[in-house]
Amino acid sequence: MDTILPFHTLSKSTFIRGLQCRKSLYLNKFNPELRDAIPASRQAIFDTGHEAGELAQELFPGGADCGFEITKSGQKSAMMTRKYIEEGKEVIYEAAFQSDGVLVIADIMVKSGNKWKIYEVKSSTSVSDYQICDTAIQYHVITKCGIDIEDIFVVFINNQYVRKGDIEINQLFKTESVKDRVIENQSFIGQKEKELKEVLKSKTAPDIDIGPHCTNPYDCDFIGHCWKHIPEYSVFDLSRIGKKAFELYKQGVINIKDIPDDVKLSTNQIIEKTSFIDRINIIDKGGLKDFLKTVKYPLYFLDFESIQSAVPIYDNSRPYQQVVFQYSLYYKEDKISKPGHYEFLGDGKADPRPALIKQLLVDTKRPGMILVYNQGFEIGRLKELASDFPEYSDEIAERISRIADLMTPFQNRLYYKPEMRSSHSLKKVLPAINPKYGYDDLEIQGGGVASSEFIRLMALKDEKEISRIRKNLLEYCGRDTYGMIVILEELERDSR
Ligand code: SF4
Repeated sequence: MDTILPFHTLSKSTFIRGLQCRKSLYLNKFNPELRDAIPASRQAIFDTGHEAGELAQELFPGGADCGFEITKSGQKSAMMTRKYIEEGKEVIYEAAFQSDGVLVIADIMVKSGNKWKIYEVKSSTSVSDYQICDTAIQYHVITKCGIDIEDIFVVFINNQYVRKGDIEINQLFKTESVKDRVIENQSFIGQKEKELKEVLKSKTAPDIDIGPHCTNPYDCDFIGHCWKHIPEYSVFDLSRIGKKAFELYKQGVINIKDIPDDVKLSTNQIIEKTSFIDRINIIDKGGLKDFLKTVKYPLYFLDFESIQSAVPIYDNSRPYQQVVFQYSLYYKEDKISKPGHYEFLGDGKADPRPALIKQLLVDTKRPGMILVYNQGFEIGRLKELASDFPEYSDEIAERISRIADLMTPFQNRLYYKPEMRSSHSLKKVLPAINPKYGYDDLEIQGGGVASSEFIRLMALKDEKEISRIRKNLLEYCGRDTYGMIVILEELERDSR
């Protein structure tokens, strides 16, 4: 074990960063100002990981904590860990080890005779290859520090756990030994350690071009910097383009207009390319008419919003289950009638689902097709509600049987405008069809933000702030459903 602990060269997270891309490792160290701002979605993943890490400590209660929040430095955490080991502590949280300039932090270590068991907590629902690499780095450094590791585990979320009352920690988490796979990776990790240290000694950033590694296994936070030569809409945006985009890029083709005619594209990609180059709308009037024949009044227009969390918030729900907390519903008797509006938004205190399903069943009692946008989501949520509240299952099944998907003509490119930019998401389709109904004027402009705002609302006491958030949520979900009416009217006009 190091007796003096100089500042480390690599931490486990920078090591992992370097495994994904050496340039990212270099820029992170020497040009951190070029990093993209952390998007809310990624921050939510970090927060979830942190929450899971803290809860998992309860699997081995009463441990000595060396966490960064206490020590404020990796080096101090490492020294504190050493002190606790020497004092004979049996359980240590956030145990830090440093060897040859590499610092790692083990979430939980537990004494087992003269050896130790190491537990690495993840908020995922299975063990991934990336996590094997992650734990292999831990093992590499901790064993170099002279610690005898009996076993090393990944602790992850059991997505089959159903909450009933207080969280049962032993049910919420699953534990899997990864020691054999970690040992297999030791020479790879040793080799990579040398390579990555060389990168950090270099005077210039490695000459690495953009590639699939920019988003695998994670979205790199230097995309804004490295991808700035790629226009907002390019070959990378064509639908289902996959690896072919990089093949084109390597041939010097970035702009859609430069794709040679002999490059084989799918029908949808040809529509997107032609529409973009010629600035034309492409409408398959026959296909559109056939679709519209299936849409019969009276019509409902329905949209759900949901929240998801690693640790189930409500009884009778599972980790990462999409729990519906809001809907907006319009009803139109016929083509020319004024739509009636119905909506539900949970109060942020009780489980929203029982009241929501009761009200939804009343609001959709009259006969009529129920139009949604992306039926997989709404049907999926309704099926879960039927399974979690079986007393409503027959009525819910009846509503499901009336659902039709307004996304179909866009997904099948029966109706395409250049402004849709290869997407058939409601957020792209609605403003392309009628710019008056974009989302720019709203405080909440996407489902991810709606979820995090509802979660925020659950903890709020300030009534003014609560009503502000509620108003924003109602406006957002209402825009999605009113937007569906606008879209249908446009399709009806354009199919003539
Ligand atoms: S954006 Fe891509 S090329 Fe640039 S640092 Fe990140 S992974 Fe490397």
